[in-house]
Amino acid sequence: MVKLARFPVLAGLVTGLVAGLVTGLAAVSTAPAQASGARAFNPLTLDGHVVKWGAPELGTPAHVTYAFAVGPVANINARNCRAMDALDGLAAAAGVGLARLRGEARAAFRLWEAASGITFEEVTSVGEADIVIGSQSAPRGFAFTNVRHAGEVLRPALIVSGGARGLGKPGSGAREAQDAVAAPRVSRITEAAVCLNPAHMWKVGFDGDLGTYDLRYTFAHEIGHAIGLDHHIQDPSIMHFKYSEKFQGLQPGDVAGVKWLYGSRK
Ligand SMILES: [Zn+2]
Repeated sequence: MVKLARFPVLAGLVTGLVAGLVTGLAAVSTAPAQASGARAFNPLTLDGHVVKWGAPELGTPAHVTYAFAVGPVANINARNCRAMDALDGLAAAAGVGLARLRGEARAAFRLWEAASGITFEEVTSVGEADIVIGSQSAPRGFAFTNVRHAGEVLRPALIVSGGARGLGKPGSGAREAQDAVAAPRVSRITEAAVCLNPAHMWKVGFDGDLGTYDLRYTFAHEIGHAIGLDHHIQDPSIMHFKYSEKFQGLQPGDVAGVKWLYGSRK
């Protein structure tokens, strides 16, 4: 029940999704059709499901663990981050040190945590972690996230299928469609991986060089994918696919998105 999507979207066969920041102009977000124009965020949809950690019900909290790869990690069925290694080499090449790199990742997790009902816990064992962060064994792009989901469906009665739409009373199709938008199918994320390209240079902080990405910004963007958000290009957003150095934290749409998925912080 897992499938792949990427940006730009590829029809895939295996697992979860996703995407990295890109600097180019060519990539066009193929936002899910269900993401209404009124939203300042786009939920990540896989196999027609909105995906989130925890209960497959929108606006409910989740507790998610993460770990840093400390050696080779194989993610065989993944489209992205299929093979990862420890981040030592990437950190050394960037001249920031492993401890500081990890600190930037932790800070990125805290951005999302502070804005919503999702909480994160760092664990040492990759095997026990929900999200694994590592360095790409086969470098490409800048950074990617892979998301796998369970394929569970919540409240299927509200889902409008093509065949069912015409069965109601006259005019009910539109109403059913509204309900479907209001209550999309939700599937539980079961695992995710975030991987950075060690062949690129990385940095801590902004300096105007848009060819070298800030680690915290990049982690925040990729973690956004790992918790169920897709690219959003209509507004300033950390989920815009294009790297920028115009802001360092979550933007209003990012906050709205994570709250839509996980509710407000208690
Ligand atoms: Zn992305």
